[in-house]
Amino acid sequence: MKVLVPVKRVIDFNVAIRVKADGSGVERTNVKMSINPFDEIAVEEAVRLREAGIASEVIAISIGPRECTETLRTALAMGADRGLLILAEQDIEPLTVAKVLKAVVAEETPQLVILGKQAIDDDCNQTGQMLAALLDWPQGTFASKVDIKNGRISVTREVDGGLQTVDLKLPAIVTTDLRLNEPRYASLPNIMKARKKPIAEKTLADYGIDATPRLKILDVREPSKRRTGERLGTAADLVGKLRQAGVI
Ligand code: AMP
Repeated sequence: MKVLVPVKRVIDFNVAIRVKADGSGVERTNVKMSINPFDEIAVEEAVRLREAGIASEVIAISIGPRECTETLRTALAMGADRGLLILAEQDIEPLTVAKVLKAVVAEETPQLVILGKQAIDDDCNQTGQMLAALLDWPQGTFASKVDIKNGRISVTREVDGGLQTVDLKLPAIVTTDLRLNEPRYASLPNIMKARKKPIAEKTLADYGIDATPRLKILDVREPSKRRTGERLGTAADLVGKLRQAGVI
């Protein structure tokens, strides 16, 4: 069984985000980019399935500018077998990503697509769900455990009230939560090996997909700065301050 893992190139989670002066988005020039952390978890899970003899091949796919090749190389160094880069110069929305993935699913016929639950740049949390709807496949979102047996996958999900387990018929869509696994570090030999693994290249036009945005970002702003606190000597001082502020 083939497993498809979409991996997005995002601003590294350690970078302090700077908003562009014109409020049109965030600064990406000369900013460190990395694989989306939830997608790293997805690659790890897919590679574990292959190591356990459940998956036969892990295909990583990234949609975006040419630099996404680096993101794919990270996935390949972690153990994915081959990569697919779909070039898109403009920012693309989850629905477009889902449409592209649907077309790739038709070509590759995987039994499982494991996505991150969300990309940490836009926090959309939409692509997996949209893909499941477009394909009419069952979905297990926010997975903290998966178990595949007899053509079915059981997905444990962390929900408010505890753990919920859903049992899905393959082919299916899974999106990863933080606790699913701890992704491995790619070893130097594996990074070297990954350079030789194949990465095929396509464009959005190859799939006949119109990527015209449906959403318009009106404004992007930095969160307001937190005001510094004040240390007070006594409870009476605190009550005085609260009165002054009109809180009590
Ligand atoms: P989102 O719905 O944008 O929060 O993204 C959820 C997941 O969809 C990500 O964790 C990725 O697995 C996948 N995804 C989103 N955008 C892309 C992209 N441009 N290329 C590859 N995978 C993507």
